[in-house]
Amino acid sequence: MKVLLVAPPGAGKGTQGVVIAEHFDIPHIATGDLLRDHVARGTELGAQVQQFLDRGELVPDEVVLGMVREALEAAKGPGYVLDGVPRTMDQARALYEIAVELDLTADVVLHLQVEDAELVRRLLARAAEQGRSDDSEDVIRRRLALYYDVTHPILDWYGERGILVTVDAMRPADQVGAQLVTALEVMRQMIEPNPDAARQPVDLTGLDSAFGAPSR
Ligand code: ADP
Repeated sequence: MKVLLVAPPGAGKGTQGVVIAEHFDIPHIATGDLLRDHVARGTELGAQVQQFLDRGELVPDEVVLGMVREALEAAKGPGYVLDGVPRTMDQARALYEIAVELDLTADVVLHLQVEDAELVRRLLARAAEQGRSDDSEDVIRRRLALYYDVTHPILDWYGERGILVTVDAMRPADQVGAQLVTALEVMRQMIEPNPDAARQPVDLTGLDSAFGAPSR
């Protein structure tokens, strides 16, 4: 299962990325986490990107795309959840080329849909809890505006290619997770290159384990 997560800040990409990665046993590659990790470790790359992160601006493409290529190569496996990239049409095209080269083109683009007022509410709550440097109200507004400007429009491109799945992510995280894991499980049966596997019945009875419940 090769999944791209595209959603506005605060929609729950990180949370759901982990759920999907655990359920399908694939790596969760989150560009924001990788960048923040560089800043925290004080690497050269971290020093280069810190200002962009603090201001809620996009880090230059070559930095992000280089990092993503490395992560995909290191993951080596047949699947991944990419969270936070692509954020622009240019990144979408570049990512597609990288994925073609590595024989890892995405099976599905998951779009988490949440109303703006709810996004701002969640991000402000996170600001109080985690103190992320980009969760102040003015930077939140800038990140949201940037999302609608340059990120949201790429969803049409994926829609035309027939790999876009949009879920309502206004509900509690566990309900959103259950819905999207279900959608991906059903899709996996269709994507599976082995025609015998494609005729397997879909079994969702083990789904609870994706949410921490002991498997029965
Ligand atoms: P959110 O989506 O909630 O804003 P992320 O953790 O995904 O949070 O991203 C945080 C920041 O990391 C972004 O505001 C941006 O500065 C940087 N970033 C992450 N991914 C990319 C990307 N693909 N291109 C450019 N900058 C990125």
